[in-house]
Amino acid sequence: MKQPKYIFITGGVSSSLGKGVTVAALGCLLESRGYSVAIQKMDPYINIDPGTMSPYQHGEVYVTSDGAETDLDLGYYERFTSPNYSRRNSVTTGQIYHAVIERERRGDYLGRTVQVVPHITNEIRNRIYNLEKENPDFIIVEIGGTVGDIESVPFLEAIRQMRYEFGNERTLFIHLTLVPTISAAGEAKTKPTQHSVKELLSLGIQPDVLVCRIREPMTKEMKAKISLFCNVKEDCVISAVDIKDSIYEIPKMYKEEKLDEVVLKTLKMDLRESNFSKWEEIIYKIKNPKGSLRIAIVGKYISLQDAYRSIYESLSHGGITNELKLEFVKLNPEELEKKNLQQVFQNISGILVPGGFGERGIEGKIRAIEYARINNIPFFGICLGMQCCVIEFARNVLGWNEANSTEFNPTTPYPVISLLEEQMEVDRLGGTMRLGSFPCILKEGSLAHKIYQSSQIMERHRHRFEFTLKYKKDFEQKGMLISGLSPDEKLVEIVEIPSHKWFIGVQFHPEFQSKPTNPHPLFVEFITAAKEYSIQNFGGLS
Ligand code: GLN
Repeated sequence: MKQPKYIFITGGVSSSLGKGVTVAALGCLLESRGYSVAIQKMDPYINIDPGTMSPYQHGEVYVTSDGAETDLDLGYYERFTSPNYSRRNSVTTGQIYHAVIERERRGDYLGRTVQVVPHITNEIRNRIYNLEKENPDFIIVEIGGTVGDIESVPFLEAIRQMRYEFGNERTLFIHLTLVPTISAAGEAKTKPTQHSVKELLSLGIQPDVLVCRIREPMTKEMKAKISLFCNVKEDCVISAVDIKDSIYEIPKMYKEEKLDEVVLKTLKMDLRESNFSKWEEIIYKIKNPKGSLRIAIVGKYISLQDAYRSIYESLSHGGITNELKLEFVKLNPEELEKKNLQQVFQNISGILVPGGFGERGIEGKIRAIEYARINNIPFFGICLGMQCCVIEFARNVLGWNEANSTEFNPTTPYPVISLLEEQMEVDRLGGTMRLGSFPCILKEGSLAHKIYQSSQIMERHRHRFEFTLKYKKDFEQKGMLISGLSPDEKLVEIVEIPSHKWFIGVQFHPEFQSKPTNPHPLFVEFITAAKEYSIQNFGGLS
């Protein structure tokens, strides 16, 4: 077993500075030098996981292959680095306290008083040590929240203890801060960074590296000033400038700033040669598209930046592979209920309906799907999007006007989507859906089989409802093919319409398995179909 080096990343001054992407990008750079990494997110909230949180509170819930409902930063970790992350990589205050309190109830503490230090901090540290099983060179731990928050104090205390125990050749503290440009003064200001470092110092942590989010790269003088005030070597003050085109340029930006070099140097690790060519190629394709396409996304949370984060990223991977720039046309389904769809979709080359919960917006989604089906526009339905295309087909092709999911109408005469048997008895919301990776068998000769070029696939799930199997024949007789089933043939995983140019609905979430370096074939082929649609209907690409 190796003795891993621990890299801790904290944030200061403000939230939303891009800590998750910074962590993922550092992991990517270390991997490009032949090192192995494991990344962990520590979220200071008391929820056990974000699975029960509203998209307004949290953004997307990212699902790992072992079925953990996690923070969307796990998605960045998986897209930028190679490990397949699991529930071990996502820790919350809720989980820590839950474990400690369970132990206390069992009597494991033998009469002692249970305290934040050492019991809570030990549990935090044990979660970090848990990653050592994977034998990585580096364990990178992102501490969620902002320094100064009450909630993050036990996490900061735990990592302070780890520095004391392992010393500064095995631990490294990176602090991400903001250097705002005050428009009236026309100047970038370092004072908030100085204050943030002081706050960290008051908790016993001296950062080794400062990553400063800033509009323009810092001058040498600014770096020298920050270095002097914050006790951080000048070459360890790194500019993180805003990136215009794509987040996939961020590793390169940090590479040019030598972030990986200072990390390796500080931790006394060899500066192995960097093999960055596959990322260079991706960036080249992003910067030199051969045309562009408009893709519509129909979801009720489109006003939120992160509610469909993995969908946008996976679509962009399909765009990169096809060397096309994508413009996302984000549509609120409630508004589609009354609009003239011919106008709405007149210059759209593909329509995607993502996952979701609850009845709001369903009728608008169903209208959009009907429009895509009738007009041969490439259509991709994911989870709830798939369920809606089953409802649409039942109503408009099978003529079952009142067909619905029992999620929206429990007494419908045609419950074409209904609760999974295993879900009938479930009475708790948290962590009780069908979660994680399951196998799916593809029908030979189907579009899905052609796309995956395989007969068996594994995909991640997060749902309670399912296609009602007794209607399978009715659908197939009228032209909807069930092309993916669970191995016991009880669960419908993929539906498609063979007479349509490209129409697929999947019960699972392929967006959790796409990376720019390994794009998911469904997204790649959806964009290829949209490209063909654009060439045929608009006479080319825009
Ligand atoms: N609400 C649906 C279900 O629970 C779909 C879930 C989803 O889209 N993730 O089955």
